[in-house]
Amino acid sequence: MANRPVVLIVEDERPQMELLAFNLGKEGLHVVSAADGEEALIVADETAPDVILLDWMLPNLSGIEVCRRLRDKQSTQQIPIIMLTARGEEADRIRGLDTGADDYVVKPYSVGELVSRVRAMLRRTRPSTVGQVLSHADISLDAARHRVERDGVPINLGPTEFRLLSVLMERPGRVFDRDQLLDLVWSRDSEIDHRTVDVHIGRLRKALRKTGGPDPIRTVRGTGYAFDPDR
Ligand code: CA
Repeated sequence: MANRPVVLIVEDERPQMELLAFNLGKEGLHVVSAADGEEALIVADETAPDVILLDWMLPNLSGIEVCRRLRDKQSTQQIPIIMLTARGEEADRIRGLDTGADDYVVKPYSVGELVSRVRAMLRRTRPSTVGQVLSHADISLDAARHRVERDGVPINLGPTEFRLLSVLMERPGRVFDRDQLLDLVWSRDSEIDHRTVDVHIGRLRKALRKTGGPDPIRTVRGTGYAFDPDR
């Protein structure tokens, strides 16, 4: 699977949606969309997007309510949300941020500005997907060149191990459970079980230890795994 970031656009105005989809697609992002709040909750759950652009004014379920429900659910609570709002008033902005949005853009916005906000968000949360080299201890990962090195020695990884390492290295020290790894590395609709995660972790460890260094991946019993090279 390509290491392309997924952006979910929630917008009921079709021309607006198409304009955003076109411009974000041009930036190399994989775009999924929803035209109302109910659909947004379903698509967010199915596709585990890396960032959500959420219109405030939606039919039926408002953007604020969608935001609240995304935050209440374990599988979606970590996904960064950028609210698109026509309401420029301070009180409304604060309300949006209070509900759990990470950023907001006031309509009418410039598409260029919105695209750069999305990239800024991804740089913080999914740096490997926007061309940043990840580097921790003696291990570096360059997603743009699809290259991993340890202590200067190139490490060959299969596509799944590469994506697994990207996800782990983006949050050093954080413990991911197997379900989270399945969402982030595979995708929710695939018929893959926990044992598969363990198999690929095993392959990744073996490859990373080829240079003789210590095991940078920590197993947390009963939970999952963390990238922890400095422990
Ligand atoms: Ca709207």
